[in-house]
Amino acid sequence: MNRLTEESQIGPFAILKDKAEARPGAFHDYDCLYAHMAAVTRLKAYEDTGMEPEEIKDFVSRWKYATELAGLCKEAGSDRLREAAEADRAGRLVVLDSPRKPLIWGDDEHNSCVCPECGFDLMGIPYGNQMVLQCPECGEYIDAKKCVTYAEAAEAALKAGDNR
Ligand SMILES: [Zn+2]
Repeated sequence: MNRLTEESQIGPFAILKDKAEARPGAFHDYDCLYAHMAAVTRLKAYEDTGMEPEEIKDFVSRWKYATELAGLCKEAGSDRLREAAEADRAGRLVVLDSPRKPLIWGDDEHNSCVCPECGFDLMGIPYGNQMVLQCPECGEYIDAKKCVTYAEAAEAALKAGDNR
């Protein structure tokens, strides 16, 4: 970068390499001089970055993206995000329209558990490592880590405003 300002600064204001401003009568009054000095000082701050204006815009854009990504990593965990990205690349990632519903106990003795959507008995169906289950009868995605009573499921549906 071909700097217009001196790298070093003594006092509150930066100075230009071009000394034309120092000519007697260059400024009519103090306000004019002050405005010039303030502008030169801000120019020095920009030049101290060592970047061209377009590079700064690109840097800010990337910084905002990185900040957003850091927030997601903090929220979800970087391992979880990496796992999701890898699953997406491999075509294994699915985003559901609504949260998975828990299984429902089919009886008071917990000898059966049923689909919250269609009531199909799902007891004995292998869930896999992620405990994700899709009902073979109606296709509903189910959170197989949870199992609730019919009353709890009805209460949750009311709270969620789900009147299906
Ligand atoms: Zn079902």
